Amino acid sequence: MSEQWIFLNGEFVTKENAKISVYDHGFLYGDGVFEGIRVYSGNVFRLREHIDRLYNSAKSILLTIPYTKEEMIHYVVETIRKNQYQDAYIRLVVSRGVGDLGLDPYNCQKPQVVIIAEPLTLFPKHLYETGIEVVTVATRRNRSDVLSPKVKSLNYLNNVLVKIEAHLANVSEALILNDQGYVAEGSGDNVFIIKDNVVYTPPGYVGALEGITRQAIIEIAQDLGYVVKEEPFTRHDVYVADEVFLTGTAAEVIAVVKVDGRVIGEGVPGPHTKRLLEEFRRRVVSEGVKVYPTNVNVG
Ligand code: PMP
Repeated sequence: MSEQWIFLNGEFVTKENAKISVYDHGFLYGDGVFEGIRVYSGNVFRLREHIDRLYNSAKSILLTIPYTKEEMIHYVVETIRKNQYQDAYIRLVVSRGVGDLGLDPYNCQKPQVVIIAEPLTLFPKHLYETGIEVVTVATRRNRSDVLSPKVKSLNYLNNVLVKIEAHLANVSEALILNDQGYVAEGSGDNVFIIKDNVVYTPPGYVGALEGITRQAIIEIAQDLGYVVKEEPFTRHDVYVADEVFLTGTAAEVIAVVKVDGRVIGEGVPGPHTKRLLEEFRRRVVSEGVKVYPTNVNVG
């Protein structure tokens, strides 16, 4: 197997040498931001949108990323190229940097930038055929006026707790409610329901990350002629929906067929979800920033 190269503060290093200090405030305090990005057949899906979201998250926590957006785009593409991947998941992390044990971010020297590209491991393929079961959990979504769920920060403890609750319930994913009981999102994905041919997803203010896949699915659904409404909804609306699905960079579009023991629709992925997934998969291989513009087959 060829070497895996990781971008670390302006250089490519091997996986074994990709190390950062235990005094990094990303490690000590979850002080930093990140992105998850996908490459499909040598096309980076909505890279500009991911970079914009990263810089917005950084701005929100007053973290100055040491590269311009153009430079960052270049480094992401270079990381994929260096590893010669056609299909990959990219993890881009910017931490506050190395400081001391104190909380004060002003003692950190310089933000650290890490770009990891890995050949993809997805949800097992059969789950796209069968759909998944989820539960709603007791852990509530962070309120928007505390740490905004729109900031994709390294502080994912809220989401980790949700994942633990899902495991305790013997399922792989869960729906999070906000402090008022409205459905916000999954632990690492956005949620959609379909009722009477209308597609619904919670608006950002309910407490969801503004997912790049979510936006792509809204656009695809509209192109296919669906009415899409960004409206708050409750657990009850989920239980009685015709179809439910989750969207995310890792999850893509995955049907949910059981929620809190209630079977959704016929208990199998519904026709609308299948159509949206099909169109999503068709678009991701043709859209995006080309990693290998000369179309050289490096596979
Ligand atoms: N919500 C949360 C909490 C997430 O971590 C993610 C994954 N980034 C999403 C939603 C989906 O967003 P995207 O489609 O941009 O991956």
